[in-house]
This record gives sequence, C-alpha cells and structure tokens, in this order.
Amino acid sequence: MPPRAQIPDKLAFVDKELASLKESGLFINIHTIGSAQGAWLVVNGQKVLNFCSNNYLGLANHPRLREAAKKAIDEYGVGPGAVRTIAGNTSLHNQLETRLAAFKDVEAVIAVQSGFNANQAVIPVLMGEGDLIVSDELNHASIIDAVRLTKAGRAIFKHRDADDLRRVLGEAKGKYNRILVVTDGVFSMDGDIAPLDEITDAADEAGAITMVDDAHGEGVLGRGGRGIVDHFGLHGRFDIEVGTLSKAFGVMGGYIAGKAKLVDYLRQRARPFLFSSATTVPDTAACIAAVDMLEESTELVDRLWANTEVFKKGMAEMGFDTGQSETPIVPVMLGEARLAQNFSQRLFVEGVFAMAIGFPTVPKGKARIRVMMSASHSPDDLEQGISAFGKVGKELGVVG
Ligand code: PMP
Repeated sequence: MPPRAQIPDKLAFVDKELASLKESGLFINIHTIGSAQGAWLVVNGQKVLNFCSNNYLGLANHPRLREAAKKAIDEYGVGPGAVRTIAGNTSLHNQLETRLAAFKDVEAVIAVQSGFNANQAVIPVLMGEGDLIVSDELNHASIIDAVRLTKAGRAIFKHRDADDLRRVLGEAKGKYNRILVVTDGVFSMDGDIAPLDEITDAADEAGAITMVDDAHGEGVLGRGGRGIVDHFGLHGRFDIEVGTLSKAFGVMGGYIAGKAKLVDYLRQRARPFLFSSATTVPDTAACIAAVDMLEESTELVDRLWANTEVFKKGMAEMGFDTGQSETPIVPVMLGEARLAQNFSQRLFVEGVFAMAIGFPTVPKGKARIRVMMSASHSPDDLEQGISAFGKVGKELGVVG
C-alpha cells in the first residue's frame, strides 16, 4: 500500500464541480431559520416577513397540531421502529389513511414518508417494459425520477396542452401495453393549474391511466382544500392522486389516493413503503389534526385565497407582472437572473424573505421572485410586503 500522503485525492472532481457552481452563481446557500414557521421568521438572525414557505394554511406551527404531536409522543413515543410491513404501524398511521380517504372522497389512501416518495412508490409499480408514460413537459423532479426508475417508454406533451397530449396518445396507439398520463396539479414555479378535465377526457379516449401530483393543490384547491380532482369534479373518474402533507397540511409525509385495489397493490409492491420506515409518531398525529381542521372549517382555505387576491391586486396596481398564476403561488416576473438576485437581496434588507428563482429551474430570461401566500399573513403583513416590493421595484427600475 502506498503511504497515505501519496494516494491521490479521489474526490478532487468534487472541488471542481463546487467551484464551477459558485462561479456560475448556481451554488445554493441554505438559510438558517431561528424560529417556528409562520408569517414572520428569524432568518440568519434577522426578523423578516415570510414569503418563501409552502405553509399555505399556517398549520406548521398551529397549536392544535403541536398538541396532537405532544399527546401522541406521550402515548406512542417518537419513532416508528421499522418499516410497516415488518414491524407493523401504530393505529395513528391507520387512522391517517382512513381519514385522508374520507376527506378526499376516494376508496383508499396509502401514506408514505414524503411527496417525493409517493411518486416513487406508485409509478414504478404500475409501469414497466412495453408501457408508455406521458408527462407534461414541466412536471416536478420527483415524477421525472420516478419515471427513470422504470423501463417504460417516455413521451412529453406540451405544458397544459390537452391537444398535444391527444397527438402523443394518437401516435402511441397500438404500440404499448399500458399508458399512464401524469401531470402536476399546480405547477410550482408559475402557479398555473393543469387543465385536468381536458387531460382526463384525452386520456380516457385513449384508455390511458390518469395520475396527478397535487402537492401544491392539496389543502388549496377544491372544496375546503380537497384538491384538484375535487376542483374539476372528477371524483370516480380520475385514477391516481398523489399528495404531500408537507405543504398545506403543515407537517411531513406523502400519500397516494385512489381505488382500494390500487392501494392494496401498492401495500404489496411500493418500494418506499416496503423498504423505508413509516413517518414518525408526532408527524402522523399532527397530520390527523390537520385533516380534522380542514374538515371542520374552510376558514383557513378561504383566508389563503382572500390573501392571494389582495396581494396580486396590490402588485398589479403597482405595475408588477405576476405571470400566469391562478393560485397562491405568485411569481413576480423580472427577466434577468442577476436582477432577480439583487431584488431578493434588497427585499431582505427591507425585511422581506422572498426567493429569486432563475435558470435552470426556470427558462433563461424568465427569472423571478416567487412569493408564496399563506393564510397566516395578516392584512398588515400583506401591505408591508407589497410596499417593500414597490420600494425595491422603483429603486431597481422595474416599476415606475
Ligand atoms: N411534487 C411536487 C409537485 C412538489 O412541488 C414537491 C415539493 N417541492 C414534491 C412533490 C415533494 O413533496 P415532499 O416535500 O413532501 O417530498
């Protein structure tokens, strides 16, 4: 064996990659949050208005969720012990699935550890060699990765374009065993909504299975936050809904909702379910409390939408372009990545935490500040946020 000093640094390429990320302005610095999630956060030691989190309903630090988590810890402890198929699961895990199924008005739900895992859990089980997966071109990374785990063929349809989907399905006719059409429900960078009714029509005509990742629609769209399938009245017609419990529900976890036989099959075959432990006890109990709250009242969902309207109106009055948004995700379109970065830094100095998003997350020339609305924002918060945008926007020549 050569002396240790003579062994070349096998990870030298990592230094190069990191340097190149820094050079191109793509290196991500993680902010340190010194407070609970809410309308205001302590970020890197400074108190700022929070326009970054997916905490749509303000549940991430809600007293009822905190109480439920603490009570569950007293009864069941913290950790799940092992994977559910080996060590079983608490009655809380069963309850969460039953309650979610009732809330979503579907036959059954299987819960996994995250929304990311939910996509990994379902797509590779249903699709394999000889099948075709047809995706919206802007689908989320967790769908793309789940597709990569299969040996199925892949095709893309133009963003939110059911006619283009029909074209793809037409070309695929007779060539595949099964076809899956999959789309995000709400697209997280633009806040636009998939035309799920038209997509379902096109898929049904071709006999294709339908799947939506409704991470940003759960707790936001539909009656009392029941999601995009409810929004479009597609109950009983739509095949697979994937949801996350980490955004509007305020906690952590993901799930797949649909027919009982689908869920039964996933319990036998889904790899994140079979080979990774269950969500923790406090997470699970807090999620049940979130379902309680959503079933009891639409107040938080209503407030989220009212806040969204106030914010968008205020921004439009000042001359800002909020793109194609139809939801509480509000992109403030700025164009160049540098401008968006400067804008975000200036906002931070003004006490507003809002992220700049540039290439490659969004196309070149379409850099923006993405503002995430929450029911936890008060009218004063919104006013303060809008006026900070106005001040920085004038200073940087974005608005007059
Ligand atoms: N799907 C979409 C569309 C998402 O935006 C996200 C979160 N960014 C996920 C899935 C992953 O959800 P989770 O954070 O629960 O893993």
